[in-house]
Amino acid sequence: MKIINLIFPPHCPLCGELLALNEGRVHKACYKKLPWVKEPLCKRCGKPISSETGEWCLDCFKSRERHSRSFDSGRALWLYKGDIQKSVLDYKYKGLRSYTPFYGEEASRVLGSWIRQKAPQVLVPVPLHPRKKRIRGFNQAELLARDIGKRMNIPVDGKILRRNRWTEPQKALSDRERRHNLTKSMEIHHLPENLKRVMLVDDIYTTGSTMEVCGAILKKAGVEKVYFLTLCIGFGEG
Ligand SMILES: [Zn+2]
Ligand SMILES: [Zn+2]
Repeated sequence: MKIINLIFPPHCPLCGELLALNEGRVHKACYKKLPWVKEPLCKRCGKPISSETGEWCLDCFKSRERHSRSFDSGRALWLYKGDIQKSVLDYKYKGLRSYTPFYGEEASRVLGSWIRQKAPQVLVPVPLHPRKKRIRGFNQAELLARDIGKRMNIPVDGKILRRNRWTEPQKALSDRERRHNLTKSMEIHHLPENLKRVMLVDDIYTTGSTMEVCGAILKKAGVEKVYFLTLCIGFGEG
């Protein structure tokens, strides 16, 4: 490990600068600035909300009018802003896999008891389309799930869900079109027997449409409880 550190000196996953020898995984000053998710949280997706009396964030509330959320509950570590936002983007698009142990360690430490309480039989990374995975070289959600799984002794199964077709960037589409495309692009690939409780893992949760679709597909296949865990989450109105 020491030799590896000499050849590839570790960088701080938050500011991207070099770490001094024995400085640990992250600069203390960078760590102090992390925007931790704090109560009150949406009872469904775990987004921080402004009002103590509100139970759900606006997205979850709106989705309740359409159809209930397909996932049961979720948690994230940090708000999607500042250094951690850049960190997660670099992780994904610049292939900085060396950030994985920092993320995995924090997730297991901070959300460990919540994960144990939900008792997922398996962690399922949100899949990337195979073409995207080839371009990027890896699926960041899968790296995360494997790291957390190893620390918490929970199996990881990256073969349960699969993206089956290329979806064009979704920004120009309406919510409905986006959801429709997403639903058609995701499928069950291989479902283990007696699978009742699943925890999805991804890097970011924004409106929840990806989790929604994964959850709906899993529930249709007979899974009873679907939870999710992400590194970052947006702030919820309501
Ligand atoms: Zn730093
Ligand atoms: Zn919510």
